[in-house]
Amino acid sequence: MSRFRVRTPTVRLRRTVQLLVLALFLAVVLAARPQPGQRLPVWLESFFHLDPLIPVVTGLAAHAVQWAFLLSVVTVVVTVLLGRVFCGWFCPLGTVHTLVGRLFERWRPARQREHWHRGQLAKYYVLAALLVLALFGVQWLVLLDPLVILYRTLTVALWPAAQGGVESTATAIYQADPGVGTWRVTSVTEPVYRTVRDLLFVKQQQSFPNSGFVLGFFLFITGLNFVQRRFWCRYICPLGALLGLLAWRPWLVRKLDTGACNQCDLCGLTCHGAASTGPGTGWKPQECLGCLNCTSACAAGGLKFRWELPWRHGLAPERVNLSRRGMLEAAAGGVVAAMVLRASPQARGATFHPLLLRPPGAADEADFLARCTACGLCMKVCPTGGLHPTLFEAGLDGLFTPRLVPRIGYCDYECNACGQVCPTAAIRPLPLAEKKAVRLGLAAFDVGRCLPYAYGRNCMVCEEHCPVPDKAIYFAPVTVTGRDGVPTELLRPHVDPAHCTGCGICENVCPFKDQPAIRVTSANESRHAANQPILGSGSGYPF
Ligand code: SF4
Ligand code: SF4
Ligand code: SF4
Repeated sequence: MSRFRVRTPTVRLRRTVQLLVLALFLAVVLAARPQPGQRLPVWLESFFHLDPLIPVVTGLAAHAVQWAFLLSVVTVVVTVLLGRVFCGWFCPLGTVHTLVGRLFERWRPARQREHWHRGQLAKYYVLAALLVLALFGVQWLVLLDPLVILYRTLTVALWPAAQGGVESTATAIYQADPGVGTWRVTSVTEPVYRTVRDLLFVKQQQSFPNSGFVLGFFLFITGLNFVQRRFWCRYICPLGALLGLLAWRPWLVRKLDTGACNQCDLCGLTCHGAASTGPGTGWKPQECLGCLNCTSACAAGGLKFRWELPWRHGLAPERVNLSRRGMLEAAAGGVVAAMVLRASPQARGATFHPLLLRPPGAADEADFLARCTACGLCMKVCPTGGLHPTLFEAGLDGLFTPRLVPRIGYCDYECNACGQVCPTAAIRPLPLAEKKAVRLGLAAFDVGRCLPYAYGRNCMVCEEHCPVPDKAIYFAPVTVTGRDGVPTELLRPHVDPAHCTGCGICENVCPFKDQPAIRVTSANESRHAANQPILGSGSGYPF
C-alpha cells in the first residue's frame, strides 16, 4: 500500500520553516570561525539561548542564574500559547529526525500506527532524573540536549569530515591535473575549491581525535528513526518533556467535529508526535508537535485547531498521567547516576588529570562541569584547533567537554575567543590582558629526549616560540663531554614557573613530533589552589 502523504499549504509552510531553521543553524555553526583577535558576534550562541532546558539544568547544578538565557523566555511563552511547536517547527535536531525518519519509511511497516504509547512517558522520567542529578551538582546535558548534540556533532565530526573530503578531492584533481589537450579540469575546479574553502571552511582544517564517538552517538539516535519516526522526540528528549509540561494547558487546542469523523484514522497515521490516542478522538497536547499533519490529512475536514482560554476548555484534552512511583524511581535513578558520575577521584577534586588542560577562564572543575554542556562551540572557534572533546580524562561527568591538546594546537597568546562564545559561562569571558595571565598548566622538559640534555645538541625552538614577553623558557650554559672526550659548550633550556602560562606552543613546535621533549601538564593551573606543586612567586628559583 502506498504511503499516505500530507501535502497541504500549511504542511508545506511547516516543512519550509523547518528547513530554513536547519539551514540557519548550519549557517550559525559555520559562522563560528576562528578569527584571532576579533570580537566574535553574540548571535553565535543564540540557538543555545533559546533552549530553556540549558538554564534550568545548569542553573540548578551551578546554583547560578544566567541572564543570557532570558531569550529562552520566548520559547517558554510560545510553548504555553501554541504547544510544542518548538519541536515541530523549530528544533534543528527534530528536523534531522524528520528527514531521517522519511528515509527509513520504506522499511517500516506500511501504515504503522502513530498513536500515543505509554512508553512516551519515559522522557518525563528522563527529565525528572536529570533535574535530580542537577540538584546534586551534576549537569549531564551532553547526551540529552538536542541542540548541544547537533552542534557538537556538526563541529567535531560532520564538518571536519566534509572539509577533509573536499580537500582530498581537490588535491587529487590538482595532482592528476586531467584535461583535454591544453585545457585543464583544474582551471574550473580550483576556483570553485578556493571559494568553498574561503566561505565554508576554516583555514586550518580541524580534526578531532574523539570524533568517532561523537558521530557514533549521533548515528545511534538518528538510527532510532528506523524503529519509529521521531523516536528520540517521543521517548527520550528531556527538552521535549519540559516543553510538554509547559503545554499542559494549551491555549491552542485541537477540536474534533465528531459528526464529520468517519474513524478513518488518517490523523493517527500522520501524527509526528504520536499525540493521537485513537481514530479521531483523543489528543494529548503535551505530545503534539504542532506539525498540523492531522488537520491537513483529515479528508472529512473534521479536525481543527482553535484558540480557547485554558480555563474555558469545553473539551478537556487528555492528560499525560505520570505515576508517583515512576517519578520516585526516576528521582532514585538521578541520585544513583549522581553517585556514579561523581565517583571519580577527578570529579571529587582528589586528583588532577595531567592531560586535562582546560581553556583559559574555565571555572574550577566542579563548577566547570556544572556549566559546560559540551556543545563544542569553544572547540569550533579555537583558531589553532587546540580544543578537543575529552573521552575519559574528566570522568563520565565531563564526557566531551573541552581540553587543550598542545600537540595538536596551542592556546594563542593574543586570543580569548573561547571565553567570548561559551553560552553557559563555563569559560568566563576574560579581557585579553587578564586572559594572558591565566595559567592553564606548566611546561616541563623531558630530559631523556630534549636535544641539549639527551643528545648534546643545541636547540632553541621552544624558547623562540614562547610568547610570554619575559620568556618562560630561558637557558643555562653548561659544558658537557661527549664520548670522544671533547668538551662542548651547550645552552640547556629551563622553564620558569613564575612566567609559564601553560599555553602549550612549546610542546606544539618541539621538533619531536611523536612525543615532544617539552610537555605541558595541568600542574600550576590557576583554577585550583590544590594543584600547585610550586609555591611562591618564583623569585629565587634555583636555576
Ligand atoms: S566550555 Fe565549550 S563546550 Fe562547554 S559549554 Fe562552553 S562553549 Fe560549550
Ligand atoms: S584556547 Fe586559547 S587559542 Fe584557543 S580559543 Fe581559547 S584563548 Fe583562543
Ligand atoms: S607553555 Fe611553553 S610556550 Fe607557553 S608559556 Fe609555558 S614555556 Fe612558554
